[in-house]
Amino acid sequence: MAENCPKCKKSINGKEAGFIICNSDDCRKKFHRTCVNIDDAVYDVIQKNPMVSFNCDECKNQSPRALSSKLHTIEEKVNKVCNGINQIQGRMYQQYFQFGNQPPMQQASALDTTKKHPQQNNLIVVGNNCNSDRLQVVCDYGRWVQVGKFATNTSEEDVIDHLAEELKINKNLVKCTKLVKNDANLSQLSYCKFKISIPDYRFNELFNEAIWPSGVMVSPFTPRSQLNQNRL
Ligand SMILES: [Zn+2]
Ligand SMILES: [Zn+2]
Repeated sequence: MAENCPKCKKSINGKEAGFIICNSDDCRKKFHRTCVNIDDAVYDVIQKNPMVSFNCDECKNQSPRALSSKLHTIEEKVNKVCNGINQIQGRMYQQYFQFGNQPPMQQASALDTTKKHPQQNNLIVVGNNCNSDRLQVVCDYGRWVQVGKFATNTSEEDVIDHLAEELKINKNLVKCTKLVKNDANLSQLSYCKFKISIPDYRFNELFNEAIWPSGVMVSPFTPRSQLNQNRL
């Protein structure tokens, strides 16, 4: 099928030499070489050098709007990839909780001999859409971290906002308590710390150094009551 040269509107016979194709992936229009001032010498350079390419005027002068729509497409693709990664991560956590956290079989049967089969956990997927807060979700919060040191005027909301953004997690799922003794005088403290938890299936993400400002220290938090229990 003959194509028309966008410059002169006359047809280009694909078999004949003397045409050139725009290098933009979205364009690929054919032009007469004479219509776009590509002489044999220039054509030769383009053919031999992969770093040199021909782009038609339209593509060269592409509007910012066209570029931004391209960017949008790329963004959508990246989001899809991220969602895929999140799903894989969710499945890994799910497997961890199914197989990694099972009580030893002997112990379980010794405790309860009436149950012949240990309770099956049929969880398939762990949801992770942080934009949805219409449904109230009850999550397990088994572990906490202690994070510091922050300026004393840092609020719990500041920390929650930060984590919600960094972890792409719903704000409602982040638990944060400022660690200050009741009788402490804030003006005399030089820094403050926070006790933080997120749902168990994502807990390990709190130890990702990339989500914290440089210099922040994160360590497992053991409640005082547990410390005392361990000592007894
Ligand atoms: Zn032409
Ligand atoms: Zn083009």
